[in-house]
Amino acid sequence: MTSPNSTLNAASAKAEQELRFDDTRTAFAHRSTSDLRRARWMFGLIGAPSLVSLGAKAIRLALAIRFPLDWALRPVFDYFCGGEDIQESLGTADSLSKYGVQTILDFSAEGQTGDGALEAAKAEILSTIKAAKGDSRFAFAVFKVSALSNNDLLEKVSCKAVLSPDEQVAWERVGERVATLCSTAVESGVPIMIDAEETWLQGAIDELAEAMMRQHNQDSCKVYTTAQLYRHDRLDYVRDLEQHARSEGWIAGVKLVRGAYMEKERERAADENRPSPIQPDKAATDRDFNAALDYALDHVDHLNIVCGSHNEASTLRLARGMQDRGIDHADPRIGFAQLLGMSDNLSFNLSAHGFRTAKYVPFGPLREAIPYLIRRAEENTSVGGQTSRELELIRTELRRRKAAASA
Ligand SMILES: Cc1cc2nc3c(=O)[nH]c(=O)nc-3n(C[C@H](O)[C@H](O)[C@H](O)COP(=O)(O)OP(=O)(O)OC[C@H]3O[C@@H](n4cnc5c(N)ncnc54)[C@H](O)[C@@H]3O)c2cc1C
Repeated sequence: MTSPNSTLNAASAKAEQELRFDDTRTAFAHRSTSDLRRARWMFGLIGAPSLVSLGAKAIRLALAIRFPLDWALRPVFDYFCGGEDIQESLGTADSLSKYGVQTILDFSAEGQTGDGALEAAKAEILSTIKAAKGDSRFAFAVFKVSALSNNDLLEKVSCKAVLSPDEQVAWERVGERVATLCSTAVESGVPIMIDAEETWLQGAIDELAEAMMRQHNQDSCKVYTTAQLYRHDRLDYVRDLEQHARSEGWIAGVKLVRGAYMEKERERAADENRPSPIQPDKAATDRDFNAALDYALDHVDHLNIVCGSHNEASTLRLARGMQDRGIDHADPRIGFAQLLGMSDNLSFNLSAHGFRTAKYVPFGPLREAIPYLIRRAEENTSVGGQTSRELELIRTELRRRKAAASA
């Protein structure tokens, strides 16, 4: 491990050089060699789709029959999650911040039901805001609306169904929870992001997120919504949002992502015999994602963005686009974010070049994080290429360290 001072000196020298993502020394400076060996083993396993699908089924079965699994999942959990609670995750925030990478504490409860669980989720997210207040290790707070509402209700609101009086009360409570989180974040000086979810829930989420942006983003951007560019309607949505913000005098904040629920979306559309909301192919998703980045670069006064992506070409496009337009690397209106344990080559090289970069750091009890870990493994397998990219970078760094040690 490098000392903080030599890290900072190296970083200022690095900021002058051309941005590249194959510098594994910078990418993995925060990881010990034994961490990397474990990661090589783990990404090797994740890379085999049949093993992931078999493993996911076995884990779900083991969970159902309460078979103890913690020992097997602990190394995977430790690589992708900050810890079992906020306190444990502070160690991760510390080690990231030594290299200029900030943390976004992600309490990843989803699909909750019952007022008790929804209030508990709200309290946990409030604790992440409290932890981030006045602490430069943290970039944003984040939450999923599905942690604060039962999904049936979000679905009904999204399709503009008539609500019963009880549902109307429940929906008002969801609005209050969202409003409390946003106003607490704003009062604490912590910008806050609202994740995007499945299309059948997203109409309700958009309604809430837009109201919060209108209320809080008058002078600067404090509340961010999320747009998934794998949807064929979302490039227009981002442009419309910017135009509304401009004409009404506020700032739209958007985390741009490609989207995490592609298979589920396609299956449901096919089951319901309606056209899929998802782009016809990856090239169309890439085209709209990059167009949204370009649009933001050209309208940054009323559209602030966080590029939530592990895609090297898009990340480089945004970084170069900023340079071409004379936008400072550290401009607060544009940020980059990746997930903990993924694409360290992007995060740490961006940060070494002075770009504002953060990691989503999920936390929670190991057992409750299992669906998140399975999704990570399945997503890595389904996107084809991401896992082999991670594995190749880890192998390169291990080879480099071995050569340096014997030189
Ligand atoms: C910081 C951060 C925050 C995130 N927040 C959210 C969120 O709030 N909501 C959410 O849904 N996701 C979120 N994601 C996940 C994200 O949407 C992607 O699933 C993930 O990042 C992979 O996309 P990519 O841009 O990194 O890279 P890539 O590997 O270039 O793209 C993979 C993505 O391309 C799309 N794709 C792949 N194949 C096809 C195809 N055949 N046709 C059309 N599209 C295709 C899919 O979206 C797939 O996930 C987040 C990711 C990060 C890093």
